[in-house]
Amino acid sequence: MNHDFIRGREELEAGEKQRLASYAQLSQESQGRVHDEPPPEWRTHYQRDRDRVIHSRAFRRLEYKTQVFLNGTGDHLRTRLTHTVEVAGIARNMARALRLNEDLCETIALAHDLGHAPFGHKGEETLNQLMEAHGGFEHNLQSLRIVESLERKYPDFPGLNLTWETREGLAKHHVFVEGLTASQRVQLKRPSLEAQVANLADEVAYYNHDLDDGMESGLLDEQLLAQSVGVWALAAEKVDQRFGKLDSEARRFYIIRCLIDDMVKDVVLTTATTIEALNLTHVSQVRQTDRSLVTYSQMQAKLNLELRQYLYQNLYYHPDVHEPNQQAVSLLVPLFEHFMTHPEQMGSQFGQYEREDGKARAVCNYIAGMTDRFVVAESQRLGLI
Ligand code: MG
Repeated sequence: MNHDFIRGREELEAGEKQRLASYAQLSQESQGRVHDEPPPEWRTHYQRDRDRVIHSRAFRRLEYKTQVFLNGTGDHLRTRLTHTVEVAGIARNMARALRLNEDLCETIALAHDLGHAPFGHKGEETLNQLMEAHGGFEHNLQSLRIVESLERKYPDFPGLNLTWETREGLAKHHVFVEGLTASQRVQLKRPSLEAQVANLADEVAYYNHDLDDGMESGLLDEQLLAQSVGVWALAAEKVDQRFGKLDSEARRFYIIRCLIDDMVKDVVLTTATTIEALNLTHVSQVRQTDRSLVTYSQMQAKLNLELRQYLYQNLYYHPDVHEPNQQAVSLLVPLFEHFMTHPEQMGSQFGQYEREDGKARAVCNYIAGMTDRFVVAESQRLGLI
């Protein structure tokens, strides 16, 4: 039997060409992978990338890493894993509406936080200080390091050997030029629209789930939000008009649902207008553009700025969030110092990692990969606390 009905990669690629916009990144036009390998049989290149991300250890560890609230402090609060899954959902919706490559967009979203240190942004700050003399620490670059080299699971190559376009999406604020010829490099200013969508989906996701988690934990108050944050007041008004009186939890959920919807709609419509005005016909034009093309409208951007400032003042720097994080983060310094003095305690592979990256970077990679709870367990085991 020859199983003619099985759908192969070529057919999926032809489907992309037919279905997607001319400015989308087609998997067929990928710059490819650093290490040559046979192409996937029944998946596109970006679908293979997505599966590799999901099967990585770094992805599974996101479950025990802090997003905003210290990991383990509440079963309903977001972790970095559930944040990532929400980002992927929002990114896919926006990509689909704009006829972009949903698979690439989803892959970038699923991988976008792989490089986060334990204990959220405070953990990142601390590692960056500890690494001051050795090139610093930044989570986007760390995501790249993970997929390019730190994951060791395939016999033929280090890392996950992902396509150039997925790695371009992870580089985020850094223009990703690796592996390109000099003339290709000169042109690059921005990543694909798929990468830009994933980036904005991250923001839409965290604004909204931070509001939700903030209220869940009693740190944010609905009435105060309605008084101080324009987007909240607008969405609340809509909910009241449609449902009248709802109990407070149902009301909160629905307001947040409306907020996500409004933001997604705003990004899709604004971006569609930009794309039309520029008459884009190929992704190479996207990469040569000086500014981001996936944006909110000016009105929404202004409203979001107000929301952002509110979240900083009332949630991210709230003592109930800040202090436990601060305390947890203080574990990283002695742990870093300990492994700098006893690098052999990091396991049998350490010698190789030290030769590849130098001692400080190898220690930093090791600690950055830890989950919050592993930091605590290791600190206890080593008698550091
Ligand atoms: Mg994120």
